[in-house]
This record gives sequence, C-alpha cells and structure tokens, in this order.
Amino acid sequence: MSSIKVLVSDPISENAINLLKSKGLIVDEKPEISHEELKRIIEQYHVLIVRSRTKVTRDIIDSGRNLKIIARAGVGLDNIDVEYAKSKGITILNAPEAPTIAVAELTIGLMIAIARGICLGNMALKEGKWIKKQLMGFELYGKTLGIIGFGRIGKEVAKRAKAFGMNVIAISRRDISREARELGVEAAKDLDDLLRKSDIITLHVPLTPKTYHMIGEREFSIMKDGVVIINTARGAVIDGKALLKALKSGKVYAAGLDVYEHEPPQEDWEWELIRHPRVIAVPHIGAQTREAQEKAGMIIAEKILKTLNIK
Ligand code: NAD
Repeated sequence: MSSIKVLVSDPISENAINLLKSKGLIVDEKPEISHEELKRIIEQYHVLIVRSRTKVTRDIIDSGRNLKIIARAGVGLDNIDVEYAKSKGITILNAPEAPTIAVAELTIGLMIAIARGICLGNMALKEGKWIKKQLMGFELYGKTLGIIGFGRIGKEVAKRAKAFGMNVIAISRRDISREARELGVEAAKDLDDLLRKSDIITLHVPLTPKTYHMIGEREFSIMKDGVVIINTARGAVIDGKALLKALKSGKVYAAGLDVYEHEPPQEDWEWELIRHPRVIAVPHIGAQTREAQEKAGMIIAEKILKTLNIK
C-alpha cells in the first residue's frame, strides 16, 4: 500500500476519488478550503487536485514542500503558477480532452439556435408576443461551414456538421489533408480561402500571440455578406470591436458566443456586442456538462496514477 497523500481542494467526481482510494492513496477532500488554510496544511500532501477556484500561487507552492503533482481537473491552467511549480520540479497535469464533445455540441447548438431564431422566439413568446412571421430562418443543410482549428473540438464539430448535410472546409496550423479527407472535409488553401467560401465560420484554435485577434476588420471584409460567426474557443481570437462593427453593417448576419475578451465582460463595447439583437451569448458554458466534469476527474485520476507509476 502506498502512503501518498492527496488533497482535493475543489469539488471533483466521486468516481475519480474512489479510483485513487482504491489504489491505496490517502485522499482528503476539502472543497471549500481557504487560501490561508491551504497554505497551512499543504506541506502534508504529495498531490494537489484543483479545478478553477483554488489559486495555486507561489506561496502555496513554497509551502507545499512535499508536492510532486499539481493536477487541474479541467483544461485551463490560469489559476496555477505553472512556471514556478515546474521550477520546483512539480509535475503539472490537466485534462484538455475532457470537454471536447461538450464544446462540439454547444457549437452545433449555437448554429441551430441562430439559424432558427430559437432564443428570440422564446423570449418573445414569454412576453406574450407571437412573432412567427419575423422568424424566417435558414437550414444548415447544404451550407458551407468553415472550421478554423482542426484539433479535437474542430474535428468533432466537422463530424456533426457532415451529419447535417453541410459542406465542411477547415484549416489548422499543421497539415490536415489526410484527416480532412477521411472525414469528407475540404482542407482550405489558406485562411482567406476559408473565409471567402464559408456561410458559417466557427473557431477552435487556442489563444496564442499568433491567434490573438486573428479575425479582425480585414478578415471580416473578405467574408461572404451575411456570414454567421461562432466562437466557443477564446474571446480574444476575434477582434470584438470589429465583430460589432460587422454586425451593425450587416456584413455578419449573426454571432453565437460562449467566450469573451474579459470574463465576465467589462468594457462597454463588450456589453454592446452581447446585447446586439442578432447575437446569442452564453457565459462560457462550453465544458459545463455532467459528462465533461466526470471525464475531467477520471482523466486526472488516471494521469496521477500513471505519473506515480501505480498500476
Ligand atoms: P486542440 O489543441 O486539439 O486543437 C487546436 C487546433 O488549433 C490544432 O489543430 C492546431 O493546429 C490549431 N491551431 C493552432 N494555432 C493555429 C493557427 N494560428 N491557425 C490555425 N490553426 C491553429 O484543442 P481543442 O481541444 O480542439 O480546443 C480548441 C480550443 O477550444 C482550446 O484551445 C480552448 O481555447 C477552447 N476551449 C473552449 C472551451 C469552452 O468552455 N468554451 C472548452 C475547451 C476548450
């Protein structure tokens, strides 16, 4: 039996905790622990599991003299001082594969909601207004979907869009010709080629210096008139002010947004964008499904066991 001690400082899946316990690890769950309390007790633990609430700052890392692993049961590592932890020889684990299906399904959901005016119809009807005539939608069938970023999520979106009878064109940083062919997707020559051909454009790239504002005024100008934009990646991959301008001019027909440059949004222009009548906006719910949270916990538990070489 191992005497490895694990502290779980945010709520994670019960099955994940049971898996760790079944392998002999001692697991303490303190899902509401304060920063000060965490700092006081972290020295006793070898593994710390967090979600997004716990801030793993330098003082926590300095106090965690026995820490071998810091694990995030989710994707983003913004709440962990990763560089500092690594400099102390601590392994950082996360589960970027957990929300793939959840985000892909939300992306399709936003497309359908826009195509059929579902949110507008719902709001109007609750106010007692029967606006059937104003809600002339369009079908996804036969439309061209441009996918920017053909990784885990991009590919799952492609599969679902193909099932709807859409033409799919995609681009990524790396060569995707083989994967694209297998899924019946056209590999775009370059970004401009994709922008010119697509009726709906969806982004699935990480936020990096290269992707920051990768869709701005120039990119909107070469898109088809009346294009639809979906962003479930990161807010700042699109220049939000340019998107607002394109919505106002009618160049962009509508947008479906899950992510924002600031979360929660701060600037007046961000709220103006969210409140635009042809924008459907949700508060970063891409990974918010029971299944994605369960998967995140289980993936992290399995990665911890693998890192510790426990079979
Ligand atoms: P992934 O790493 O599997 O795929 C990202 C793809 O983007 C890769 O194929 C990569 O080649 C491509 N790429 C990178 N830079 C590019 C560039 N400059 N131009 C074109 N393509 C580029 O990641 P994933 O799991 O598919 O996730 C994609 C993004 O979705 C994440 O980085 C994250 O920002 C976002 N995300 C959002 C939520 C949410 O809750 N809304 C949840 C999970 C992930």
